[in-house]
Amino acid sequence: MESRKLFVSFKMSEVCNLDCPYCYFFFNGDDSYKTNPARMSVETAERAGKFLAQGAQELGIPTVSVALHGGEPLMVGKKRFREIAETLMRTVSPHAELQMGVQTNGILLDEEWIRMFSELNISVGISIDGPKHVNDTVRYDKKRRGSYDRIVKAIELLKKSHQEGLIGEPGALAVILPGTSAREIYTHIVHELGLLKFDFMLPKDSWENYSPEMTDFIEKFSLELLECWLEDDDPKINVRSMKNVFAPFLTDFGVDMRINYIVDLTETITIRSNGDVSPDDSLPSISEEYRHTGCNVATSTLKEFYDRPLWSDLRSSVSTPPETCAKCEWLGYCGGGELITRYSKSRKFNNPTIYCSRNKALYRRVRQYLSDYMDLKDIDERTRRSNELAAAELVFEA
Ligand code: SF4
Repeated sequence: MESRKLFVSFKMSEVCNLDCPYCYFFFNGDDSYKTNPARMSVETAERAGKFLAQGAQELGIPTVSVALHGGEPLMVGKKRFREIAETLMRTVSPHAELQMGVQTNGILLDEEWIRMFSELNISVGISIDGPKHVNDTVRYDKKRRGSYDRIVKAIELLKKSHQEGLIGEPGALAVILPGTSAREIYTHIVHELGLLKFDFMLPKDSWENYSPEMTDFIEKFSLELLECWLEDDDPKINVRSMKNVFAPFLTDFGVDMRINYIVDLTETITIRSNGDVSPDDSLPSISEEYRHTGCNVATSTLKEFYDRPLWSDLRSSVSTPPETCAKCEWLGYCGGGELITRYSKSRKFNNPTIYCSRNKALYRRVRQYLSDYMDLKDIDERTRRSNELAAAELVFEA
C-alpha cells in the first residue's frame, strides 16, 4: 500500500450523553460498545500511538489524520482527553505529520475545553441537524430533551474563540433527515448561526438495508443544497461535499486531490477503546469479519493488519469496479462511492454506490453550470483525463 494519508477514526469514548436514534455507532448491529471500555485508557492510547507511528514508517505514510471520536469524545473528561492527545503527539509526530480533529455534540463544551484544543492544535467540528424543530426531533438526550439550545450555546462559544484566534474555523456536521428542506437547514446553519464550514453526512446504508425512497429524497436534497451554495457564490462558505463535486472540474490539481482522496479513503481504519482495529467504522455493521478482525494495537502492526485476507478482498472488490462504474463518464470524480454504500451480500463491494443516481445528477448540474463560464470541450477533456487517471490509480497492488 502506498497511501498519502491514513485516516483514523479513534474511538476514545464508547458512550454518549445523547440518544439519537439514527446513530450508526450505537444502532448498527455492532454491539461491541457494550463490552468495550467506556473510555480509552492512556496505556491503550500509548500502544495505538506506537502502532500508528510504526505503520507510518513501515508503509511510508507521510500524514496521519486522527478523528477523535466516540460515542461522545468529551465524555472521557478533560484530564484523560489531554493525556490521550499528548500521548498521540509524542508517539506519532516524530514519524509522520499528525493532524487531530474532534467531532463533538457540544453538550459538555466550555472555555476550558477550547483552551485545550487551542493548545494542542485540535480542530473542532460540532454536530447539529438544523433549526430547533428539526434538530430536537432526533438529537435528544436519554430523557428525550432536545439538544438544540445547548448546541447553539456551544456554537456561540466556538465562534467567539475563533474570532479571538484561539481555534480555527469551527465546522458543523448534519445528518440528512427524511422530509427536511436542504434550503431551510442551509440557511439556518450558514446565515442564522454563522457557521461557514459545514457538511451533511449521507446515511451509511448498503444495498442490503437502503430505502429507494430515501435515496431519491437524498438526491433531491443534495441538488437543492448545491443550488443554495451556488446562489450564495461566496468562497468563504465551505460545504465540503459540494466542493468535492466542483473541484475536479476546475483544475488538474483538483482532479489529483479528488483521486488521492478516493484512494486514501479506501484504507481508513478504526481503533476502538480497547485497542481493537477494524476497517472504516461503517464496515463493522456488515459482518463479524469486519467487526472482530483479530487485530489489536497491542499485538499487531498496521502492516500485518493490511496483510489480512479481509483487505485483499476489499482491495480486489474496489479495483474491479462493476461494469456500470468502469464505463461511467464520472468514474474519476466519483470513484464508485463509499465502501459501505456499495455493499451487498451477494456481490460484496462489486456494486456502484446506492447514491449513484445522486452523484451523476450533481456532476451533470455542475457541468451545465460551468458551461456558462468555460468551454464545454475543455470541461469534458478534463473529465476524460480524470477517468484515465482513476482507472490506473484504483488498481491496488495484490
Ligand atoms: S456515478 Fe455511479 S456508475 Fe459512475 S462511478 Fe459513481 S457509482 Fe459508479
